[in-house]
Amino acid sequence: MFADLFRDLLMNLLLILSPVFFYQIFMVDRVRTKTHKSQWVLGALCGVSACLCMTYPINVGDEFMWDLRWIPFLVAILYGGVRGGLVATVLSLGYRLNLGGGMAFYTVVADVLVLFPLVWLLRRRFLVWSRVRKLVGSAAVSLGCYVFVMTSIAFYFWDRHDLGYMAGKGVWFYSLYALTYAVAMLCAVALLEVIFENEKMREEVQRSEKLSIISELAASIAHEVRNPLTVVRGFIQLASQGMDERNRGYMGTAISELDRAEFIISDYLNFAKPEVDQKERVDLAQELGHVVTVMGSFANLRGVRLEEQLEGELFVVADRVKFKQAVMNLIKNSIEAMQGDGTVCVKAFREQGDVVVQVLDDGEGMTVEELERLGKPFYSTKDRGTGLGLMVTFRIVEAMGGELVFESEKGVGTVATVRVEGAV
Ligand code: ADP
Ligand code: MG
Repeated sequence: MFADLFRDLLMNLLLILSPVFFYQIFMVDRVRTKTHKSQWVLGALCGVSACLCMTYPINVGDEFMWDLRWIPFLVAILYGGVRGGLVATVLSLGYRLNLGGGMAFYTVVADVLVLFPLVWLLRRRFLVWSRVRKLVGSAAVSLGCYVFVMTSIAFYFWDRHDLGYMAGKGVWFYSLYALTYAVAMLCAVALLEVIFENEKMREEVQRSEKLSIISELAASIAHEVRNPLTVVRGFIQLASQGMDERNRGYMGTAISELDRAEFIISDYLNFAKPEVDQKERVDLAQELGHVVTVMGSFANLRGVRLEEQLEGELFVVADRVKFKQAVMNLIKNSIEAMQGDGTVCVKAFREQGDVVVQVLDDGEGMTVEELERLGKPFYSTKDRGTGLGLMVTFRIVEAMGGELVFESEKGVGTVATVRVEGAV
């Protein structure tokens, strides 16, 4: 008897942990945990696992089913949110109905109706807890769920005038059952947490590896290209001395273009070198006005209107050149996000002691997945994109002690917001 019970318990435990393993194998690599798709998948896996728990219930020697189906349900809501919870609920309720309706089914529905919103409300807090708190918290949640479900089962037996059956089970049965609830939940949460942690670490390592490769590449390219540029510049200067007024003008233009190329190389490709920031007090309206003028021709070329709404008297402490570079990258992306005509607006204003610079566009916008990938090296959806622009921009804003946030909706547009502490 005891061996059978133990075997059934282990079986249930295995079934509960199986979605975690499948999730690890199929999902974690591809999509981050916060994306909708992975929430659906986790919900489906948990739903299947709950159904399997019902199929292989814990046999205690009579016809009533004891099982741990609520654990996958809790996991689905805690980690999969509304979407995950919904899929799991639909799957397991559908399956449960298939096993038989009636009063027993209605108690399960009532349980779901109460537990779902409660656990979902807890979810927001839960996700930001430390790991230890998550473990303790989830064990507490599963015990709470256990007590609640037991009460509803008691209600069911009371309705059948058969409370004696439940009372006959004895304390050891209920204690063991409660213990299994807590242990199963602990195992599932611990495993999921370890999986997410590993995934995060792997991403970090990949990121820093990529960074070190490109910074090496960038440094060598910058070096190789800059030297010939300097030589060419010198010879043009020499040659232009013997020329007439008009040709000297052309040469002057050539030299200034060379200077610009040199500037771009050092500023764009050399980002990895720990250059010392030249911090100074920057007048935003003035600098942004300049940036908008420079980008104006690029916008015109693509039939995009570039507008500015700049408050005066806004100052920040920053490296002037880099700050301009950062905003330029944002504007450039916004302009490139347009199909046909559209408007890009650059705003600067004060908000509670902070200075805010916004670049708004009504271009193609981005999905949640795309938003998540912004700023990763080489992430680009453009044929001739480098996928470095935003990485540089994020770095620059970070170095200024500010933050850069993107909000976007596919097909509607994008808002990039830079928030920096204002200076007087
Ligand atoms: P690149 O511009 O070379 O592609 P970025 O790092 O500047 O590299 O941008 C990375 C990607 O982010 C772009 O390829 C684009 O898909 C997306 N992106 C950036 N800004 C916007 C925007 N305003 N609207 C739509 N997509 C954008
Ligand atoms: Mg770009």
